[in-house]
Amino acid sequence: MSETPHILVVEDEEILLQFLVYHVENAGYRATAITTGGEIFPYLDNGDVDLILLDLGLPDGDGLSRAQQIRERSSVPIVVLTARKGADDRVMALGLGADDYLTKPCDPRELLLRIRNVLARCGAAAQPGIA
Ligand code: CA
Repeated sequence: MSETPHILVVEDEEILLQFLVYHVENAGYRATAITTGGEIFPYLDNGDVDLILLDLGLPDGDGLSRAQQIRERSSVPIVVLTARKGADDRVMALGLGADDYLTKPCDPRELLLRIRNVLARCGAAAQPGIA
């Protein structure tokens, strides 16, 4: 694992994906952009993920079941970012082991603070400063 936390950004909307990756990298993290849930697992198996930013509406299966599959094999922090605003989805995501939950549209400053806080709680090695 590199000293710079590696964020896996899972989002199928291209513009939003670029926006998220831009802000994550700008804050000093490493970011990898993926557009499907299935792509998460090779990274998990390699142990090269410090946090997963997870969209729930993905083309190859619901993000909630992806969160469950992630938890079956890893305790890597998961921050859900979704357009779904209902309490049911939030409760279910947190119940499945997500560490935080944000709804779109989100302010990148809030997103980055939540990422930073989750990484700090989960004991990731390096924390870039956030202005
Ligand atoms: Ca989506």
